[in-house]
Order: sequence, then structure tokens, then C-alpha cells
Amino acid sequence: MDEYDLMLERAIKKLPPMATRHQRFEIPKISSFIEGSRTIIKNLGDIANALHRPQDEIFTFLLKELASRGDIEKGRAIIERPMKDEMINDKIKKYTNEFVLCKECGKPDTKIDIIEGHTALRCMACGAWRFVRKI
Ligand SMILES: [Zn+2]
Repeated sequence: MDEYDLMLERAIKKLPPMATRHQRFEIPKISSFIEGSRTIIKNLGDIANALHRPQDEIFTFLLKELASRGDIEKGRAIIERPMKDEMINDKIKKYTNEFVLCKECGKPDTKIDIIEGHTALRCMACGAWRFVRKI
């Protein structure tokens, strides 16, 4: 019985605090390293999940912004250039501001929609929308 209680206690401690759901949205930071002349981003999938956007789309945006070539291999995003974390994080921030965050209420609960034949960002929290450019 004691052992069971201990296990239960450990399991509870592992749960994230309830408060996280209501915390202010934070733009996720990339984790990368340089291998030869390439930059390997280890957590682009996590970033895509946090932003609720397809990883491929974020990566296409990054490559364009960084004027680089690259590929996703075995879940790791590879940029064919050595690149500092800060530079990539800057671009993730730019992507988030342009394609994820609602400019009216600042919430990230948005989705990409087609309005009057154009790509638009629609906010599920406040209903506001605005056109966005194609990536
Ligand atoms: Zn909104």
C-alpha cells in the first residue's frame, strides 16, 4: 500500500500545473546545433505543435527568410548553412506574429482560412480576421 501511495504521489508530481493552460502564450524557442556547415534544428516538430501549424510550412518560411536551402530528415530540420539560434528564433517570432497571433486580442488560437478567395488568419477567440500573405 505504501508503495502504491508513493507511486501515486510521483505520478501527480509529473503532471503539469493547471495554471499552464491560462498562462500568457510564449513563442517557443528552437534548439539547434551546428554540424559541419549545416544547422540541425532538433525541435521544429515541437514548435509546430505549439503553434498548431504544419512543420513543413514553418520550415519553408524559415528557409525563405534565411535565404538558405534545407530539408527535413528523420524528424530533424536541416539548414544547409551554419546559423545561430538567435537568428532562427527571430524568424520563428516573425512567423508567429504574422501567421499565428491575433492582432486584435493577441491570442494564438487562430486558424488559416480562405476568405473571399484569399488566405486569411481567423481568430477563434475573438472572431477577428485579417488577410495574410502566402508563404
Ligand atoms: Zn483574437
